Amino acid sequence: MPDKAANNSEKPLAIVVGGGPAGLTAAITLAVGGIGTVLVGKRPARPDNRTTALLGGSVTALATLGVWDLCAAQAAPLTIMRIVDDTGRLWRAPEVKFDAGEIDLEAFGYNIENRHLVAALEQFAATLPNLRLIEDDVLSVERGDDYVSVTLKSGDRLQAPLVIGADGRRSLCRDAAGIGIDERKYKQVALTVCLKHSRPHRETSTEFHTPNGPFTLVPLPGLRSSLVWVLDPNHADDLAALDDAALALEIERASHSILGKIEIEPGRGLFPLGVATAKRFGDNRIALVGEAAHVIPPIGAQGLNLGLRDAATIGELAVAAYRAGNDVGGADVLSAYDKMRRADVGSRTIAIDLLNRTLLTDFLPVQGMRGLGLYMIDRIGPLRRAAMREGIAPAPAAAQPRLMRGEAL
Ligand SMILES: Cc1cc2nc3c(=O)[nH]c(=O)nc-3n(C[C@H](O)[C@H](O)[C@H](O)COP(=O)(O)OP(=O)(O)OC[C@H]3O[C@@H](n4cnc5c(N)ncnc54)[C@H](O)[C@@H]3O)c2cc1C
Repeated sequence: MPDKAANNSEKPLAIVVGGGPAGLTAAITLAVGGIGTVLVGKRPARPDNRTTALLGGSVTALATLGVWDLCAAQAAPLTIMRIVDDTGRLWRAPEVKFDAGEIDLEAFGYNIENRHLVAALEQFAATLPNLRLIEDDVLSVERGDDYVSVTLKSGDRLQAPLVIGADGRRSLCRDAAGIGIDERKYKQVALTVCLKHSRPHRETSTEFHTPNGPFTLVPLPGLRSSLVWVLDPNHADDLAALDDAALALEIERASHSILGKIEIEPGRGLFPLGVATAKRFGDNRIALVGEAAHVIPPIGAQGLNLGLRDAATIGELAVAAYRAGNDVGGADVLSAYDKMRRADVGSRTIAIDLLNRTLLTDFLPVQGMRGLGLYMIDRIGPLRRAAMREGIAPAPAAAQPRLMRGEAL
């Protein structure tokens, strides 16, 4: 059992590897709860030009921690979500429109550029006395009985009884914990870009379902939106090779001009899509959060919302163990973490994978079932409201981490 007296950022009880949004949120949660924490992260080589639709509880958690005030001005509310069948197929689904007011919410969530979210998390993290931030690469992670050792590129070596692996899809921490992964690559690529447009978005996100995947416009503050366009890889390469004016025309055409004239902002991204779930979310004193634990395609804005729930959950469990004088990285904490996250991650991964497959299939009965499902959601009020509530948070509310319910640590 590790020495409990050692709890400051010089002799930390926790090390977080990876300074993306999930890692920063985990580190902040641990440090706010009194746990001496070190976060080691290397900024990605290319800037992340994606945006995140932060749904319901994610915004509440960031507000409860004190981060949301630092970036709220850069986020746009999502009050209406439209799904439009643009497959041109024989059996098309009706347009479905979800309005946050129907479930007594002002907004389903807020869309923000990742760079603003990460900057706010970094700014807040820098104010916490219990948290030390090191910008460096982690070269190796070695597990031991009482401690995990982390070796940095600088040559420094850190040890702590709990390591949080927030190091993304190719997680070194996951390998060090001896945890395998179930993974499947899709024959789809997401093209991402931010846009200026001449017509207002009216706080509405619109998801056009095309035979190759969704084309989703999500509001940003002002006359701006972000686009995630899921395509087959050849088409994605062709579009990515276009100059800004030609790409803007293609986007205007695909969006049926609902936002008027389009202007492309600098910074495009191409993301090969797939689905992956770690076989366990924690073992051998190493807990996995965010994309180190699970990757899902960008349909329905679930990925980072799951990642933030991971971060809040492991943070709360470790803080509870610390306050009770127990081992923060012990088997009890890690098995509770695995158990608490599996249903939420598993159910959303299956639902999104299925929805994606029904879009891609040429099999008429499956297309018909998809259309019927959306028709029922459109017509049956209680079903539609249940779908909206489940889309933004797992039911029942008690299944969510406390931070997501607005309760301080
Ligand atoms: C096109 C697209 C659109 C999306 N839209 C949404 C959305 O609207 N809503 C939503 O909820 N989710 C969305 N997602 C998912 C979301 O972007 C991801 O879930 C999120 O970015 C993952 O965050 P993370 O912190 O887990 O990982 P990352 O952002 O990948 O961060 C990992 C960090 O670890 C660092 N790192 C890795 N290895 C090391 C090492 N050895 N040493 C030091 N540092 C290291 C990396 O440099 C990086 O900074 C989208 C995804 C895609 C592809």
